[in-house]
Amino acid sequence: MITPNMHYADLKDSYLFYNIAQKTKAYLEANPDKRLYRMGIGDVSLPLCDAVIKALHEGVDDQATKDNFHGYMPECGAPFLREAIANYYAERKVTLAPDEVFVSSGASDELGDILDLFDRSSTALVIEPAYPAYVDANVMAGRRIVHLSSGEENGFLPMPDDSIDADILYICSPNNPTGAVFSREQLKCWVDYANEKGSVILFDAAYEAFIEDNELPHSIFEIEGARKCAIEICSLSKTAGFTGTRLGYTVIPKDITRNGMNLNSMWVRNRTTKTNGVSYIIQKGGAAVFTPEGQEQIHKNIAIYKNNAKVLMEALDELGIWYCGGKNAPYIWMKCPDNMSSWEFFDYLLNEIQVVGTPGEGFGACGEGYFRFSTFGSPEDTVEAARRIKELLKK
Ligand code: PLP
Repeated sequence: MITPNMHYADLKDSYLFYNIAQKTKAYLEANPDKRLYRMGIGDVSLPLCDAVIKALHEGVDDQATKDNFHGYMPECGAPFLREAIANYYAERKVTLAPDEVFVSSGASDELGDILDLFDRSSTALVIEPAYPAYVDANVMAGRRIVHLSSGEENGFLPMPDDSIDADILYICSPNNPTGAVFSREQLKCWVDYANEKGSVILFDAAYEAFIEDNELPHSIFEIEGARKCAIEICSLSKTAGFTGTRLGYTVIPKDITRNGMNLNSMWVRNRTTKTNGVSYIIQKGGAAVFTPEGQEQIHKNIAIYKNNAKVLMEALDELGIWYCGGKNAPYIWMKCPDNMSSWEFFDYLLNEIQVVGTPGEGFGACGEGYFRFSTFGSPEDTVEAARRIKELLKK
């Protein structure tokens, strides 16, 4: 009989969103006259912008004509999109060759697939609280995981030190769930650490477009030395509303070599074996994001989410509650009042004011006692949720 990958038995049940769904369902069954204010969702609520929709339509029309039809796309991405993304980086003074950019179907796919580049005996460092996929993808591969806790004392932005011994370093900035963003100086410490140890940083920049402070880095490649040790994984999901359309990109500089193996060349080999490219139509829509028109339109949508963040932050400021995030990220990470646990606070908000958020404990043990609000909901719901939170917690 075949032996399945027994590491799947080591996975913890992904109970976080399941539990939230169960609890909200039970509440609505018991209280059919109530409606919920959902501040927990990680999905966007605004549609794709006009520039993207127009390009998607053009892509569909191209597929209807013999002259413009596209079959299989290049496995690593359409040259027009790889170039558009390289130009986007150039605006931030990061020089990339188009063939250092790999077009993907989204960051989740890449975060799992990229582990093909590393030996199973390598160790993965996960800074917690963290996006759960980092841990799960490594458990599935049977890799040893080093959990690095963070907390209020370091603003949820821990620094490397000699006690840490890991080969793959996950850094998510702006962070999901805390919304914390590493400064240039802090990232430089991680880059120096990785170069010294020969580790590789997997930099998750899914929320870079939400950064508004000019001095904060959007890309790890703004940091000197990163080209020798970092891979950056990005997504158009939150930046441009592609959660259902699916498009992302991964940057692997040609300068990363370990044990005589070049990671960029290995990834070309991987993609040409394991994928047949991303749909032409979707890549055409994605390229529109990087036009001046597309940038203006996506930033109008981001501004709506940012205003949601402002509304929630003002409520927490008024209440004197500690939080981080919100300013340069679409998530607000707050301390639960009165020493409530994450799930106690979840129940309290659900039962008293019908506001649904995400318990911090679901992102790692050090998230206990904290709570995440997403700002991707509608402005109307956010205003009402903030009003209810203020009224409840003022008591
Ligand atoms: N990385 C982080 C930190 C995320 O929060 C998410 C989605 O919520 C992803 C990656 C996945 O993005 P995608 O939709 O491109 O798979």
